[in-house]
Amino acid sequence: MKPDSLERWQVQQSADLYAIRTWGSGFFDVNAAGEVVVKLQNGSSTVDVSLMEVVAGIKERGLSMPVLLRFRDILDRTVARLNESFGEAIAATGYKGVYRGVYPIKVNQQQQVVEEIATFGRRYHHGLEAGSKAELLVALAFISDPESYVVCNGYKDAEFIDLALSGLKMGVQTLIVLEMPSELDLVLERAQKMGVRPRIGVRLKLSSRVSGKWSESSGDRSVFGLTMGETIRTVDVLREKGMLDCLQMVHYHLGSQIPNIGSIRAAVTEATRVYIDLAKEGAAMGILDIGGGLAVDYDGSHTNFPASRNYDVKEYCADVVETVMAGCDKAGLTHPTIISESGRFLTSYSSVLIFNVLEVGRVDEEPEVQIGADAPELLKNLAEILRAVNPKTLQECYNDAMFHRDEIRTAFVQGNLSLRHRSQGENLFWRIQMKVAKESQGLKYVPDEVKDLGDALADIYYGNFSLFQSLPDSWAVGQLFPIMPIHRLDQCPNRLGTFSDITCDCDGKIDRFIDLHDVRKTLPLHEVKDGEDYLMGVFLVGAYQETLGDLHNLFGDTNIVSVRVDADGRIDYTNEIKGDSVADVLGYVEYDPKDLVAMVRDRAERAVRENKISPAERRAIVEAYAAGINGYTYFESHEPDPAAGTASNGAGSAAPKEN
Ligand SMILES: *Cc1c(COP(=O)(O)O)cnc(C)c1O
Repeated sequence: MKPDSLERWQVQQSADLYAIRTWGSGFFDVNAAGEVVVKLQNGSSTVDVSLMEVVAGIKERGLSMPVLLRFRDILDRTVARLNESFGEAIAATGYKGVYRGVYPIKVNQQQQVVEEIATFGRRYHHGLEAGSKAELLVALAFISDPESYVVCNGYKDAEFIDLALSGLKMGVQTLIVLEMPSELDLVLERAQKMGVRPRIGVRLKLSSRVSGKWSESSGDRSVFGLTMGETIRTVDVLREKGMLDCLQMVHYHLGSQIPNIGSIRAAVTEATRVYIDLAKEGAAMGILDIGGGLAVDYDGSHTNFPASRNYDVKEYCADVVETVMAGCDKAGLTHPTIISESGRFLTSYSSVLIFNVLEVGRVDEEPEVQIGADAPELLKNLAEILRAVNPKTLQECYNDAMFHRDEIRTAFVQGNLSLRHRSQGENLFWRIQMKVAKESQGLKYVPDEVKDLGDALADIYYGNFSLFQSLPDSWAVGQLFPIMPIHRLDQCPNRLGTFSDITCDCDGKIDRFIDLHDVRKTLPLHEVKDGEDYLMGVFLVGAYQETLGDLHNLFGDTNIVSVRVDADGRIDYTNEIKGDSVADVLGYVEYDPKDLVAMVRDRAERAVRENKISPAERRAIVEAYAAGINGYTYFESHEPDPAAGTASNGAGSAAPKEN
């Protein structure tokens, strides 16, 4: 990037730089005005909606950043993509069975999401997967289509099993998956009591191992599922009781985000073999459930890198259908109904987190210091090194600077250097490193340590969000999400930065970013302009992020707004969910906000009696405290709103000031 480039920076260059057209999967793009757009449908046409326009509308409605945007329309389209891709594979191969998806509720349990999938998915008989009693209660309420399935996974007690059996009684195709050998007796006992014949599946421990972040779900020693021995014993018990007709399904789950199509194919092959032999043993069968794992291409590289996948949804469906078909044809068996439990693929694209940048920390903003003749030797040496930096001395100057910085720290700790001199020394140290980095630009050979300097010198952009609340997988498992500015994309981003959130935790940072080849440590960003918001979007966050988040530093849920376009192409804001207030999050940790206000009121009253404050001051203090208790947990700016540069009409004469 040449900041001084005379050519105008083209929007296309931003699109390439942030790779939005690869990971965006046709849902996100950049418009001519340099803003990120989401492509929403009204009827059969697609409308480009600028995220800046959406944000301006949200602010006019009185909500502040950060905000989570949900696009139901995208959810509908991923549900359609999955079902239609299976449909095409079935038609193309002449497969005789059908495909039935079930959405695993744990991936995003929000009512809006489950309801949308159940409602829109009905045309495909898309069902739900429950891994707990609570999720099964949700599933039974939302699934009424007799052709959809409800699959019950997870540890089951008698109540869980009874619920599943009552689903069956009501005419919902509820399948109970045995995760543990011990569950069989309980299922048979409850079924007899309730007078229904259960529909049973077995979860297999396959020997196929997969690479990827969540691969522990697979392999012989995975915690879930039955071994081959336990599977055969299940058959024997059922045969003895004359209930082999109840064993109808083979199920497995390799883990989420499987990057490699080879692993997927190996597992389907193995599971199909088990399916065939269970049928030969006399079990009724009829259903093969291949679990989740269909991956999302977070970095757009289309490789078997953990943040990507080396296949697409069509290839996935074709491979599954062909493999099952080949196995069954060879064994002379009818083709089973194929169930898959994709969650990540369905929900990732439909949520975007938007946050504003509050401040930027830069190492190059320190003023130049003059080293006088009477300065300590250490400082004079550093000043000398600074003068000596040139393309031939890079490594040497770098080494000397590192050495002297340590010397300075030691001298300071031992009381031989003043705080003022230490600060001057550190200032010189950073200026040397910046000069080394600058001189190294464009050189053919750059020493490794010097190469890494650029990352160490990067700016820190302080973002108004909590990593722990909104992007827990980024912290917990190092997951990469595409992040980019949602405006100013017609301008060259001439800074390199990393992000820090507003929790005061040093883990609350983002310093790994998607890249087509590897992982980058800094992201190209724009200089923040005074009095103007700089807004970032974190994309593909619809899966797993919303309820894993925690209340670190008591930052609560963000505001959530669902966005769609109406028949006239106008933006329609629905299902606005206000984020947690401070009172809400305090309540989660057992405080009573009313008590807190009363305690502060008492304290202020005492201060009045002691003549420390006036009654009017008491009132102002108590009002401000109460306003804080009822406010948003994130940083709120009450300044006039700068959604500048967008089609908004100035926006935000903001909330009335409390004090
Ligand atoms: C989590 C889970 C899924 C969802 O997997 P994705 O990779 O998100 O599609 C499916 N099945 C089971 C049993 C799960 O535990």
